[in-house]
Amino acid sequence: MKRFLKIVGLVILVLLIVAIGAIGSAFIGRQAIADGFEINGIRIVKDGIVSVAVVPIAPGEVALIDAGNDKTGKAVLAELARRQLGPDAVKAILLTHGHPDHVAAIKVFPDARVLALGPDVALVEGLVGAHGPLPRLMPVVPTDVKVAHAFMDGETYTLNQVPVRVFGVPGHTAGSAAYLIDGVLFLGDAADAASDGNTIRQSPWIFSDSQAQDRASLVRLDQTLLKDGTDVKAIVFAHSGVLVKGLAPLTEFAQKNQ
Ligand SMILES: [Zn+2]
Repeated sequence: MKRFLKIVGLVILVLLIVAIGAIGSAFIGRQAIADGFEINGIRIVKDGIVSVAVVPIAPGEVALIDAGNDKTGKAVLAELARRQLGPDAVKAILLTHGHPDHVAAIKVFPDARVLALGPDVALVEGLVGAHGPLPRLMPVVPTDVKVAHAFMDGETYTLNQVPVRVFGVPGHTAGSAAYLIDGVLFLGDAADAASDGNTIRQSPWIFSDSQAQDRASLVRLDQTLLKDGTDVKAIVFAHSGVLVKGLAPLTEFAQKNQ
């Protein structure tokens, strides 16, 4: 019996080390979130392990890209206060996907329309669980959030006068979205900025539904943007820094992976 317990203990220990190693390696090698980075009036706010972007859409009104990991929304509220704005200044929240670390503070902003790509609506509303190896272990809890508008791939949505191009980039989740606003491309968790400051890499497999599908989505996005001759100034990632090398990092990734 004693020997059996020892073996069970050892197995648990090994599994724990493997799990910690996998999660740890997922975070190594990516560029740190650029807290306070600003481009075309769009500002990156670091909320712990994730970033939220504050996008001005009219005098005294903003939209957010994602709603962070902190359900009190402290970091975003501080940025709003810096602009002498309150939580009701947030008129829209564009979700890159429905994982819990991107939706936590939605309720802090009562006037915000919640917008997400169609296939992630049920995930955002807490009606289904996520599929990645780690996210699937989390309980399914209804979030009391209602998505006001489900985006379609290729749609252009207008926030006041500000056009937003919406691209489906399924893979990290089925309804992962990329957004292009004023030359700034938001990739959410579809990719990360590598610590070399030049290249992009995929989001860790442990958090993703399918890395192969994510790769194909990134290749397709690059092709679409190249074909349109889209002017991309910067690429923003949810868990890492900002790359200001135009579309080149995505094109380089696409060339390696097609
Ligand atoms: Zn995610």
